[in-house]
Amino acid sequence: MKWKKIGKILVLDKHPSNLDELLTIHNVDTIVKVNNIHGKLREPDIEVLRGNETETIHKENGCLFKLDLSKIMWSKGNTTERFRIAKLVQDGEVIIDMFAGIGYFSIPILVHNNPKKVFSIELNPNSYYFLKENIKLNKIANEKIETILGDSNTVNVPVLADRVLMGYVKTTHHFLSTAIHNLKPGGVLHYHETVPDKLINTRPYERIKKEARLREVEILNIKKIKNYSPGVSHIVVDAKIH
Ligand code: SAM
Repeated sequence: MKWKKIGKILVLDKHPSNLDELLTIHNVDTIVKVNNIHGKLREPDIEVLRGNETETIHKENGCLFKLDLSKIMWSKGNTTERFRIAKLVQDGEVIIDMFAGIGYFSIPILVHNNPKKVFSIELNPNSYYFLKENIKLNKIANEKIETILGDSNTVNVPVLADRVLMGYVKTTHHFLSTAIHNLKPGGVLHYHETVPDKLINTRPYERIKKEARLREVEILNIKKIKNYSPGVSHIVVDAKIH
């Protein structure tokens, strides 16, 4: 049985018989089973097995994330990536977070660094609500972040960015044209893709190159985040677009 602890909630992938014992062992208030994460809004389908509070505050990498697990996903497998990105950011950068969620990347960037501004775009109103809550919870100055509820493929960001975060999978390549259009010359793209293992070194590059058109693409790094399904990995490509 797989399990993870998110704040005061234990998340399982099975329905075991020793639920009361698990409440004590893990010191949690609630136990839920996640059956599925579905749709482009990445909404979970959960069963509450013990307790009734599905809202919690999770602490990770020195940041606080308030969320309701009955409405919003939390990917434990992306923990290292969230911290890696936070460490890459330089002072004064302008950043566009195209799939901001509850602030998975935007919050650690703003807690650990001093960018000029982060534009955080999110389509799901539930996630957007918690993104705003998390900005307050982590005491982030209002002038450092602009939150936008909408589709990152159509939202107009008024400035070019030093860095564009594309923390989304399955159809991320449909957003590449917009991402590159919004990137300064020499800016860096963090492009996520779920890709068959044998195509890791070719397909993401080809997709970026196609949308970059005449701009030169320099691959800085290709990193596996986690296994997605048998023979398929969730990867991130750091690419400088000249
Ligand atoms: N990178 C995250 C992490 O570290 O855990 C996980 C991915 S996050 C759940 C992806 C977010 O993209 C979701 O909140 C989803 O609602 C949002 N999203 C999907 N399509 C979108 C779009 N067209 N514009 C803006 N946000 C979108």
